[in-house]
Parts: sequence; structure tokens; C-alpha cells
Amino acid sequence: MNNGVVVITGGSRGIGAASAILAAERGFDVVVNYAGNLAAAEAVCAQIIRAGRKSVAVQGDVSKPEDIERIFNAADALGPLKGLVNNAGVVDVAMRVEDVDLARLERMFAINVYGAMLCAGQAVRRLSRAHGGTGGSIVNLTSGAAKLGGANMYVDYAAAKGAIDSFTVGLALEVAEHGVRVNAVRPGVIETDIHASGGDPDRVARMIEAIPVKRAGTAHEVAEAIVWLLSDASSYTPGSILSVTGGRASLP
Ligand code: NAP
Repeated sequence: MNNGVVVITGGSRGIGAASAILAAERGFDVVVNYAGNLAAAEAVCAQIIRAGRKSVAVQGDVSKPEDIERIFNAADALGPLKGLVNNAGVVDVAMRVEDVDLARLERMFAINVYGAMLCAGQAVRRLSRAHGGTGGSIVNLTSGAAKLGGANMYVDYAAAKGAIDSFTVGLALEVAEHGVRVNAVRPGVIETDIHASGGDPDRVARMIEAIPVKRAGTAHEVAEAIVWLLSDASSYTPGSILSVTGGRASLP
């Protein structure tokens, strides 16, 4: 089974790492992009290579166009691109909107929105039949926060993910006829490092009561949705946003 090459941004940890490993198990070769954590990225690649697939770790900040170029050049060297998971994302310390400054907003949107849109552009140029490609799949990571608003925590992050919702629908309609499926996965509260990195290590424990199934999700549970959307099994599903939220913020 050879499903081609997939680029996973932020593939070194959390949901991205789980997706990289599962995609490899399902027949994809994987470009594992990371921002700074080379050791984590190399550990993911090693696991993929042990499973018999090709993999390479590529440092790159998705908010920088020249880094995005490097990530996709590495994919070209591995083989024909078939997919992209726009997974790299950041939150920031809890803050009310009246205290948010431009520097915070620029980082939040540059990584979470501009990076995803620029990576998608690179992918479309390779996947679209209008550009000589053979089709493929793009999966964006949005968040339950886009529907809930993130009040008193991170309205800026929620708004950035709201932009990803709209971007997913718009790009899906733009490229569906050219063989590119674009979808998003909406995780709820998932056990990863992102909460501690954003200055709130207790967030998961605090949120449990608000989750209908009364537990946080795992990175692997989100990866299952991502890899299904990457694969041909989802061939008649463009333009959808699949909630993996334990029932929270799951209505369309
Ligand atoms: P995580 O555990 O914090 O991992 C973040 C990953 O993104 C790491 O691989 C990191 O690389 C990479 N990264 C960070 N900034 C980057 C940049 N500028 N350029 C390239 N890579 C960058 O995050 P996660 O919880 O798995 O989240 C993955 C995605 O799911 C994000 O888009 C997030 O917003 C979304 N999400 C998560 C949750 C949740 O509860 N966990 C809920 C809803 C949505 P290094 O290892 O090199 O630092």
C-alpha cells in the first residue's frame, strides 16, 4: 500500500505526531514539520521508518513563507504529494480582549491562519488537476473554541480558528472540481502540551465537567478523524468540519 506523501505541520508533538504515526500505518510517507523540537520530530520519524515508510523531519516556522517553501521542497524530494495536514497551532496566556496587543495578534494569526493558508496554497499547486496534479486531500485543524468564542481565555485564538472554518469551506468549494478535498477537524479539549505551552497546564482538568462524555480526548482519537479525511475512504466528503469534541460544541 502506497498512498503517497503527506506533509504534517507541527508533526513533532501532540495531535500532529499522532497523525503522522497513524498516517504512516495507513500507507503514507510523512514529512514531519516542527518549529524547534528536533528530538521530538526525529522520534516520530524513527517510528515511521521502523513501520516501513519514508519520513523526514523538516524544521520550519509556518508563519514564514521561505520556511514553507523548504517544507514542500522536502516533500517533493520524498515523492508525489497526496496530502497536507495544517496542524501547527499555538495558543497564548489567558487574556481579555482589552488587554491584547498587536504583537500577540500578529503571532496568533500568522501561525494559526496565514501559515495554514500559505501551506494550503503550496499543496493546491501540487495536488490540483488544474496544475497537473492527480488530486489529494487537505485537512485543517480548527477548534471547538471557534464556536464557543474563548471568552476570558483567548478570544483571539477562537477568532483565528473561526477564520480556519471559513477558509476550509471556501477553499473546498474552489478546488473540489480539480480533485482536491478540503476539510477540517474540530478538536475539543485534548490531552496535549498545548495547554501548558499557553500558560494553563490545568485547563484539561478544569474543563472535564463541561464535556458531555466527561473526559478529555486523546491525540490518537483526533488523528483517526484526520487520517480518515486524508484517505480515499472520505472520497465524497469535501467541505466538512468534523467535530471530535466529546459532544461539546459539536452542533454545526
Ligand atoms: P501541541 O501539542 O502544542 O503541538 C504543537 C505542534 O505545533 C508542535 O509539533 C510544534 O512544534 C508545532 N508548532 C508550533 N508552532 C509552530 C510554527 N510556528 N511552525 C511550525 N510548527 C509549529 O499542539 P496540539 O494540542 O497537538 O494542537 C494541534 C492543533 O490542534 C493546533 O492547531 C491546535 O490549535 C488544535 N487544537 C488543539 C486542541 C487541544 O485541546 N489540544 C483543541 C482544539 C484544537 P515543536 O514540537 O517543534 O514545538
